[in-house]
Amino acid sequence: MLLAFAAMPLVAARTVRAAVSAATMPADQALKLLLEGNQRFVAGKLEHPNQTPDRRAEVAKGQHPFASVLACSDSRTPPEIIFDRGLGDIFTVRVAGNVADKVVIESLDYSVKHLGVRTVMVLGHRRCGAVIAAVEGHEGTADQDVGPMLSELRPAVADSKGEPGDPVENAVRENVKLVVKKLATSEELAAMVKSGELKIVGGIYDLDTGTIEMLTN
Ligand SMILES: [Zn+2]
Repeated sequence: MLLAFAAMPLVAARTVRAAVSAATMPADQALKLLLEGNQRFVAGKLEHPNQTPDRRAEVAKGQHPFASVLACSDSRTPPEIIFDRGLGDIFTVRVAGNVADKVVIESLDYSVKHLGVRTVMVLGHRRCGAVIAAVEGHEGTADQDVGPMLSELRPAVADSKGEPGDPVENAVRENVKLVVKKLATSEELAAMVKSGELKIVGGIYDLDTGTIEMLTN
C-alpha cells in the first residue's frame, strides 16, 4: 500500500512532462520574454537567467523551451546572448543566411509539435555575409549550380532586386519574410498560425546597436 502511494507522484510527474500543454507558454508571452531579454542586452543590463548548476540539473530531466529561433551562423548573432537567456529556454537552429531547407523546417516543426513552442522567430541580421554573397553572385549565375545555401537565398535576392535602398539590406529583409512564410506552409503549423495559437515572426538584428526590428508581413 505504502509503495503504491509512493509511486503515484512519479507517475503524475511523468504524465505532466509528456503533455505539451503543461509546459506551453502562450505565443504573446514568449515573444515578450524574448524582446525583454533583448532590451536588457541592448542596455548592457544582462541578467544571465537560467545559467546555474541548478538549472542545468532541472533541464537535464527534459526540455521545455519557450521559443524557437532560426538565426544565422554568424558569430555575432547567438540567440541565447542577444535575448539574454539560458539553458533550456530557446530551441535554436543556426545556419548561414538563416535559410529554411528541409532539415531546418523539420527541426522547427519538432519544437512546435513535441516541445510545446508557440513562438518561432526567424532572425536575419544586417550586413549578412551569406546574403552579400548571394547578391554579388546573383548576376550571371542563373543557370549555374551555386550550392544549396545560395540557392536558398536566390528567391529573396530576385524578389528584392530593383527596390530602392541597399540591395543587401533589402535581400536580408526579403529573405526573413520568405522564410517566415515557408515555415508556415506545413498543414499543421499553418492551422496553428491561423488560429493564433502559434506565432511565426521575423526580425532583423542590428549588429551595431544590438536591437531587433520586428518585421510585419
Ligand atoms: Zn549572416
